Amino acid sequence: MNITEAAARIAEAGDGSPRRGRDPVNLPMIRNWLEALGDTNPRYEAGSLAPPAMVQVWTMHGLHPASTAGDPLSAMSVVLDEAGFTSVVATNSEQAYHRELRLGEQVEVRSRQRDAAGPKRTALGEGWFVTTESTWYVGTEAVATMLFRILKYRPPGPPEPLPSPPAAPPAAPPVDVLRPVVSRDTAFFWDGTAAGELRIQRCGECGALRHPPGPACPECGALKPEYVVAAGTGEVYSYVVHHHPPVPGRALPFVVALVELTEGVRMVGEILGAREFGVGEVSIGAPVRVEFVRVDGELTLPAWRLADPEGER
Ligand code: ZN
Repeated sequence: MNITEAAARIAEAGDGSPRRGRDPVNLPMIRNWLEALGDTNPRYEAGSLAPPAMVQVWTMHGLHPASTAGDPLSAMSVVLDEAGFTSVVATNSEQAYHRELRLGEQVEVRSRQRDAAGPKRTALGEGWFVTTESTWYVGTEAVATMLFRILKYRPPGPPEPLPSPPAAPPAAPPVDVLRPVVSRDTAFFWDGTAAGELRIQRCGECGALRHPPGPACPECGALKPEYVVAAGTGEVYSYVVHHHPPVPGRALPFVVALVELTEGVRMVGEILGAREFGVGEVSIGAPVRVEFVRVDGELTLPAWRLADPEGER
């Protein structure tokens, strides 16, 4: 059966098995969510209603789901995996809220496949866009819906090395790393790293700084992006030590930090040298300085190094 037929069959099957939330809507989970998102809206701090945007939280599988049988997206993923489209990236999601949830309500979600379109050529590789529609219910009442789209793509092999002129040194082997998708909104950032500049997007209307880059200013809505060059200093706002799974081009473990720049915006980047000094030396609040890691002719990644408190580096 080809992919189109399999997709049609999954779509025709309609709603998958309903998945019931592990717990009813509860205050501890609401508080964790508010804290993680920095949401201080007093409407939810008071604790009888749940923020609508956390609807997905109530029915999450958890890390070790008992079974994904009967889930249309899982079924479609199996079909695409078998056809070689093994990598996945979420591309967009659209949620609609019909009402706020109250403490103690038991939520369940049902999902169906809306669309599977492909194969399409994308910057990541050839792939299929799969759209799933999920509806959350309390009893028989629909309380929220979501359209969720992913791209399942065939990971490209390493690029063919260019033939080098006879006198030139042998071409460096192609570097196999995860590459960012460069768009019209982000090109200035990657042009900057290639030129040894860390650029922050600035609204040409109100002057607000923002990162990651995007077309519109979240403060005033203006579509007038400019940029400033950052000083390249900041401090560790948060970090993770990545032990597993293996990542192409990286030795494990490595440290990925969310760095708060001196200018105030936050960026994600690797902390360099963590294997030599011991990952335990990374701490929240540690001062860091940007470094540019030239991967190859097309990609320079910004990364961070712990700033020596004695200023010897
Ligand atoms: Zn603005």
